[in-house]
Amino acid sequence: MQTVQTTQTSPGKTLTKTITQHTKALDEETLSFLRGIAEDYAKVKNAVYERYSGIRHVNSLTPVYGILNEMRACGLREQLNLPVVYYELAVADAVANIKTNWAFLKKKINGLVTADESLGDDEKMYLRTVLKVNSIFAAVLNGEPHELPDRAKGIPLDTDRLDNRLRRMVRKHLTKPKTESARVFKVSPNGCRYGDGGIYLVSRTPRRRVFVPLRSGEQYDRQILFVLEETGAALHIPVETRIRKHEDYTDTVFMHIGDQVMFTLSDGSVYGEALGRMVFPETLRLDRKNRERGRLMREAEAYRADGRPDKAASIEDNNLGRKKYDSRKARERADTIRYINTEINRMLREKKPARIVIPSRVLKGRTKHYSRTVNLKLTRSFRGYVRERLAFKCRIHCVELWEVNSKGTGRLCAACGAEGKMWKDDFVCERCGNHTTIALNTAKNIEKKYQDGEAIQTFESFLTAD
Ligand SMILES: [Zn+2]
Repeated sequence: MQTVQTTQTSPGKTLTKTITQHTKALDEETLSFLRGIAEDYAKVKNAVYERYSGIRHVNSLTPVYGILNEMRACGLREQLNLPVVYYELAVADAVANIKTNWAFLKKKINGLVTADESLGDDEKMYLRTVLKVNSIFAAVLNGEPHELPDRAKGIPLDTDRLDNRLRRMVRKHLTKPKTESARVFKVSPNGCRYGDGGIYLVSRTPRRRVFVPLRSGEQYDRQILFVLEETGAALHIPVETRIRKHEDYTDTVFMHIGDQVMFTLSDGSVYGEALGRMVFPETLRLDRKNRERGRLMREAEAYRADGRPDKAASIEDNNLGRKKYDSRKARERADTIRYINTEINRMLREKKPARIVIPSRVLKGRTKHYSRTVNLKLTRSFRGYVRERLAFKCRIHCVELWEVNSKGTGRLCAACGAEGKMWKDDFVCERCGNHTTIALNTAKNIEKKYQDGEAIQTFESFLTAD
């Protein structure tokens, strides 16, 4: 059985989970205040990307204070008239993204080095070590003298040539991050205050706060991420959750993850049976509604082009109730999300697994089924969401998440191994007479593959909180 060497999440540590609150529908003045902050927030991030994402700064990104001090002194904040409680988080956000960008680049180059057959083993080891030690990596990129990594000492290597090669690779693959969307911003705890059924935000005018009414009454003392929507905003608040180890969680569970029934386990039990009913009516209705809106919008446009703005305005007023449409959509989405989480929790509580085995994710671009319609896109996003939440909850409860290659798990009969027939949700094997659901047959095949040693622990279950 393949094992992966890495740090495990451990009990007692914490993980950050995100809680979401929603604003009520907001008036135009409040909305334009929020949009203005989001636009400036994006400008600050882009300014930081412009200045600090190059190779010259690769070694001065941590700690963030150096850059923060320079950005405090550069005059941009005053020029934008953006309060500190937004400005500094925009800077910190951008620096974090630059760091992530570098981490991805290093990972990519590491892969290229490994795959490069023109490099010898010692040369690969040298390059990989340089990628690992940031101070040496920075010196190499900037053509400065540097120490040899300990592991490379005493080995005859043409380090000048290798350093050159690394610089070329970085130049070729380094991209500058850029924020196009101006729909989000963060505010620090001292920039907001809960009260009167909403939240008061620091405005651009001293001592004046902007009131944003909320749909729910919880209050947090955390930095908040605002994501702007058509007529309101979603507030995302990171909250620390303690990782718990359950001594009575001992079983291994094998399950299929589906769009209709969320989880089908190899023992026949199911969780999230109503998922399909919740997701599909919503997506179909949205699709229909979107088409209808498109038709009305074109009609209104035609009237306007025809010199009849009164008629156009009346269609828009009566039929394009965006607010109502948006809030219903948001509510249904929130219901589905709540349902998914409740059902994952129920499965964990009832099955008490020490280990969960699921099929590997089907890679994007390799799937044959493709649909332009909005409903399937939405379904896919829920499927991704289910896996993500499952991985997260596994980490919180110290449950190992394992994967087996999903190839053949749907098609082959779990009882006899012959190729079966699939019709809608049913699976029928003509050789041995096995008649079951595709989901259950798949779950049983996952169990079989696992028993045959074809499973590995997932990457997701290794992500630690930091
Ligand atoms: Zn069979």
